Amino acid sequence: MKTVIMGAGAMGSLFGGLLSLQGEEVWLVDIWKEHIDAIRSEGLILEERGKAQPIPIHATTDAASVGKADLVLIFVKTYHTEKAVSDARVLQKESTAFLSLQNGLGNEKAICKQIEPQKVLLGVTSHGATLLGPGKIRHAGWGKTYLGELDGKMTDRIDQISQMFVKAGIETEVTSHIQDHVWEKLFINVGLNALAAITGLKNGQLLDYPETLRLMEALVSEAMEVAKRKGIRIGENLMDRVKTVIEATRENRCSMGQDLDFKRRTEIDAINGAIVREAGALGISVPYNQMITDLVKVIEKNF
Ligand code: NAD
Repeated sequence: MKTVIMGAGAMGSLFGGLLSLQGEEVWLVDIWKEHIDAIRSEGLILEERGKAQPIPIHATTDAASVGKADLVLIFVKTYHTEKAVSDARVLQKESTAFLSLQNGLGNEKAICKQIEPQKVLLGVTSHGATLLGPGKIRHAGWGKTYLGELDGKMTDRIDQISQMFVKAGIETEVTSHIQDHVWEKLFINVGLNALAAITGLKNGQLLDYPETLRLMEALVSEAMEVAKRKGIRIGENLMDRVKTVIEATRENRCSMGQDLDFKRRTEIDAINGAIVREAGALGISVPYNQMITDLVKVIEKNF
């Protein structure tokens, strides 16, 4: 399956590298020329469990040079989705599938503005990766990946993609309820990211102070209310599951924290900002999510 990855940062390179190691034809597309040049000359350097290996892989800054794709994997930050999808339109043939494994809410809508919805698939992954420099990434976290059709149907194409991922060592499950999984990850990001980012804390420290614990629970509770009103299925003990993930990643500085530390734009609009938007459409008030979204936005404006 010819796979083209739009956004060859930490996660795009990770998935691309793992698929390429299994002999799949993979093309990495990224606008960052220095990174692409490094991959073309030295291979993609994948550091895993303390060992680094170079992976030969196609890489380009120009999607138009790749030809047609069977699968386009969208792995840019959420605020770059529309531009990346616009660049990826040249890759389309009748049977091309577009899959987003990005965090947050709104990716599906952004993709479907330019691509017919029946070509669009959604997923969510618990893998983690870090970009170390041009051409070099670290595989930093392992977990399950869920894939689903937007209409919940079980199709041959999604099975094929899942099998390709599994063969590459990416534990994958196809689900008929992909939105539930997107929200499950969103709850964690809603409670953790912005709060850790603006307090300067590591993930686990949010559980150590009554103040941050209370704020975290308030952010997640508001998101739960929105999700319930939207018909999202929330399993038992959601708050405990969120805390378990935060505890399991205790020593990490979350990605939004790193973004603020390095004065980079964050994905706040797709996380707490998305809760504010969804709540607004339902006529619900979510003051904690509104406040934290506003705070992060003001910090970004002052970079
Ligand atoms: P990243 O910043 O490392 O990579 C994004 C890449 O997209 C960059 O290299 C950038 O140059 C490139 N890009 C921007 N515009 C482009 C365009 N028009 N065409 C091609 N490339 C373009 O980001 P990341 O950490 O890999 O995260 C990507 C998505 O995956 C985000 O939504 C993130 O929340 C999600 N995610 C990240 C992790 C993680 O551990 N890093 C885990 C799960 C999900």
